[in-house]
Order: sequence, then C-alpha cells, then structure tokens
Amino acid sequence: MPAGIIKPTRADHLLMSERVVMSRLAVVFGGSRGIGRAVSQLLAQRGHRVVVLSRNKNAAQATTESLPGEKHLALSCDVSKEDDVQRAFETISKTCGTVGYLVNAAGINRDALLLRSKSEDMMSVLHTNLLGSMLTCRGALRSMLSHGGAIVNIGSVVGVKGNSGQCVYSASKAGLEGFTRSLAKEVSSRNIRVNLVAPGFVRTDMTTGLEKEEAVRRIPLGRFGEPAEVAQAVLFLLESPYITGQVLLVDGGLQLAL
Ligand code: NDP
Repeated sequence: MPAGIIKPTRADHLLMSERVVMSRLAVVFGGSRGIGRAVSQLLAQRGHRVVVLSRNKNAAQATTESLPGEKHLALSCDVSKEDDVQRAFETISKTCGTVGYLVNAAGINRDALLLRSKSEDMMSVLHTNLLGSMLTCRGALRSMLSHGGAIVNIGSVVGVKGNSGQCVYSASKAGLEGFTRSLAKEVSSRNIRVNLVAPGFVRTDMTTGLEKEEAVRRIPLGRFGEPAEVAQAVLFLLESPYITGQVLLVDGGLQLAL
C-alpha cells in the first residue's frame, strides 16, 4: 500500500459490512409531498429524526405524523424568502440540535416557451429552485461546520440535457449543478459532502397529466419513476462517505434519449 494511505481496520470493515447507521438530524425542504415526502419516509425508516418543511405547514405536519419514530418536526418555510429560511434554522438549532443531513426537494415549474414566459414566473422559478437551495445550504452549513454533514440537492435531467419549453426551469437546475460542485469543493475540508440527484419523469403532483403514451415511449425503461425510487438514490448519496460533487441521474435512462 502506498505511503500516506490509511488501510481500513477490521473494525472499519465490520462497520461497513453491518451498515451500522448513526441516527442524525435530517432536514428536508419540500418534504410535504412527492419526492421530498418519500425521502422523509426513507430517512425516518433508517432511524433518523426528520424536520419536514414546506410552505403549507398542515401538509408538512401530515407527513411527519405518517413517519415511523418520534420527535419529527414540521415547519412552515418558503425557501425563496431569506427571513423564512433563517427563522427555520433558528428554530431547528434551538429545538433539535445539529443538522447532519440536508435535502433540497422544494421546487416548482412554470413551463412555457421563453417568448411566452412572464418575468414574475421566471423569478419565482429561479428564486425557489436555485436561490432557495443556496439559502438553505448556507443555513445548514452554519450547523454542519463543526461536525460534518451531507447535502443532496434535487436537480433534473433537463438541467443536464435542456428541453424546449423549459428554458427557465432547466436554467435553475443547471445552476444548481454548478452550485453543487462548487460548494462541494468549498466545504470538503470540513467533511461536508454535497451531491445532486437529477430525476427524469417522476409520478408526483408536478407531473400530473404528463404521463401520456408519447412521453412514456421516450423513456428507455418505459415508465415514469416513483418518488421512492428517487429517495433511494438520495439516501445512497447521503450515506456514502467517499462521494462528493457528483450528479446522479435517476431517470429510467431518459438522458440517453434526449
Ligand atoms: P411536488 O410538487 O410533488 O412537491 C414539491 C414540494 O416542494 C412540496 O412539498 C411543496 O410544498 C414544496 N415547495 C414548493 N415551493 C416551495 C417553496 N417556495 N418553499 C418551500 N417549499 C416549497 O414536486 P416533486 O416532488 O415532483 O419535485 C421535487 C423536486 O424534484 C423539485 O425540485 C422538482 O423540480 C424536482 N424534479 C421533479 C421531477 C418530477 O418528475 N416530479 C423531475 C425532475 C426534478 P408547498 O407547496 O406546501 O410549499
């Protein structure tokens, strides 16, 4: 073995083989519905304490009440508003402690050809999907700096490949990719990892009415994905101690067809 490389001990192998998981505080923005809700469920099943946030507090509360385990917390927060995000992290640090995992699943689309797009819709998409994740990452980092942590942002296959009728949405997700890679470099020395999951079509409120034959035919695996299938990839990245700055497509192969 070359000098300077630390060989894993028997105890390390044991830990890895038994997949011993330390319980952490996981914060999921956009956790009330769709992909974020599935992520919250998987994290709670793994024994983590989950804070679920969305604009609609009742919906966030309904998610926490459906989770296994106790002490989960529901908060109302609009990620596009700096004050809201700051207040949320103040509440989390006072009532729950140090953040271990952050998942940014809050997102919206206002799809239209660019010529027909309204400026206010463009701003909403950029402020929610891109600025929102920047604000939440900044909020979580303050808590993670001393203990390390892991962040997963939810991008999109159209951020990687582009799509007609989704210029602004695609720009918000492509921006999130650059942000993810840069932040991964910025905080790696503090043992904080930052990755991005880029889903294709997933069956949620966001894609209601889109599951038509023509759309499904373009997907090599021949179907829309389920939120739980994206959540699996999110959990994998959160728990993988040697992966950072990566973009993982979870799209049934759609990227091959675009
Ligand atoms: P849903 O519409 O099912 O859920 C969106 C979630 O985000 C809800 O919890 C919603 O709650 C929350 N949310 C929306 N705006 C805000 C805001 N300003 N502040 C806080 N929370 C907000 O969407 P999906 O689960 O489908 O999408 C999750 C992420 O995955 C998004 O980033 C989306 O762009 C991305 N994605 C989805 C794909 C799909 O096919 N479904 C494909 C590729 C990417 P509330 O309205 O109460 O605030």
